[in-house]
Amino acid sequence: MNYISTRGLSPAQTFTQILLGGLAPDGGLYMPEAYPSFSADDLAVMRGMDYRELALTVLSRLADDIPVADLKMLVDKTYTTETYSHGRADSDFSQITPVRKLEDGLYTLELSNGPTLAFKDMAMQLLGNLFEYALDKAGMDINILGATSGDTGSAAEYAMRGKHNVRVFMLSPVEGMTPFQQAQMYSLQDANIHNLVVRGVFDDCQDIVKAVSNDLEFKAHYRIGAVNSINWARVAAQCIYYFKAYFAVTADNSEKVSFSVPSGNFGDVCAGHIARQMGLPIAKLVVATNENDVLDEFFRTGVYRPRTSAETAHTSSPSMDISKASNFERFIFDLTGGDGDKVRELWRAVDQGGAFDLKQHGLFDRVADYGFESGKSSHADRMATIRMAEERFGTVIDPHTADGLKVGMAHREPGIAMVCLETALPAKFEDSIVEALGRKPERPAGLDDIESRPQRYEVLDANIEQVKAVIVAHAND
Ligand SMILES: *Cc1c(COP(=O)(O)O)cnc(C)c1O
Repeated sequence: MNYISTRGLSPAQTFTQILLGGLAPDGGLYMPEAYPSFSADDLAVMRGMDYRELALTVLSRLADDIPVADLKMLVDKTYTTETYSHGRADSDFSQITPVRKLEDGLYTLELSNGPTLAFKDMAMQLLGNLFEYALDKAGMDINILGATSGDTGSAAEYAMRGKHNVRVFMLSPVEGMTPFQQAQMYSLQDANIHNLVVRGVFDDCQDIVKAVSNDLEFKAHYRIGAVNSINWARVAAQCIYYFKAYFAVTADNSEKVSFSVPSGNFGDVCAGHIARQMGLPIAKLVVATNENDVLDEFFRTGVYRPRTSAETAHTSSPSMDISKASNFERFIFDLTGGDGDKVRELWRAVDQGGAFDLKQHGLFDRVADYGFESGKSSHADRMATIRMAEERFGTVIDPHTADGLKVGMAHREPGIAMVCLETALPAKFEDSIVEALGRKPERPAGLDDIESRPQRYEVLDANIEQVKAVIVAHAND
């Protein structure tokens, strides 16, 4: 199966060919030329599978240029209980991403029991192993350059640490991350991990990454790669847990399930959309945003208007503080029936800082056919939902999961289970939990002293030349 660009002007590529790249040469995102489809018979067999078996079944359709035996090796190496159950090593792979029943018809899907306590570990750990495999085969190495406001950077570093053909240069702002998040990244002692703390804000970090990537000569010479959320392999790996959750909360494949997804870059919920396109019986996909409501606005009105960085609020669910939703273009590509010309037309305005209104293109009616709904949540909602979840369901949830639960509960339908994706553990966001509940959240074993471990980072000005100099100094370590 081949992958094509949402903007229609790039040659078709295999999974392995797009694995290490970011955007397609025409500026679009890669999508399958046609979705593989899981029939009723396939789903009946999949119902009995554990996480590893589901992963292999889903990924072997999407990464069909990797020999199945190799893919199985990569899946088995990635999805261990040790990695995804806080170090508890056993072979009960059905316990990877468990669902928690809150009450009849209402569940959370626990995705945050990986090494960095956020759902991004689910896909990023696989990406680390895929990168190592593909680079070894090609006899290459890569320098990953990224910017993080918290969860992505730590997930990437824990996925790439110790890999002999990968170096990570991760830019983070001096302020904005929680002490726990900083400690997660900066306490890594692996020689291939470089934490670059930038005297600036997250947008400064992201601007530097863009500027370095736009220097095509530097990029080619120093083999600069990315692991950002538009990476197709990450989206593909996120499809797996929708299957896992669906089977966990239904008794029969005639039932439908809805999902509520705390959303920022639209990667996680896009994976749900793709799972549905492949045949998973999903009723509704509920897009939950915080005060940064560019996606909620779109699903209510048909207007997609990315914000400027000055318009982007800093909230208590910071991993959803985005100005534009990078993966959203994938959904619009499907909505247009795979019309790259149309996507190019729509994004001509977006890429120049503008907006588009799907109603003017006669396309908004189709959005409902895809079963998307949306809602937003404020700081006050988040606090109230964290308190409600503790009182009513006896569980402590993090602020992002609270956004999803608040919006998900407002979109329940009789007879259809609602699964709310848990995207981080409360331990990552202590101050918000203290504000909501008056006490600190529990931490998984072994993390009590993380802030007092020795830290390794370099502080730089928000200056592209300084960042390039660090890459040059280490690019061939
Ligand atoms: C990244 C992240 C999100 C948003 O996910 P997207 O795929 O960008 O929509 C939500 N919650 C947490 C905790 C995250 O780290």
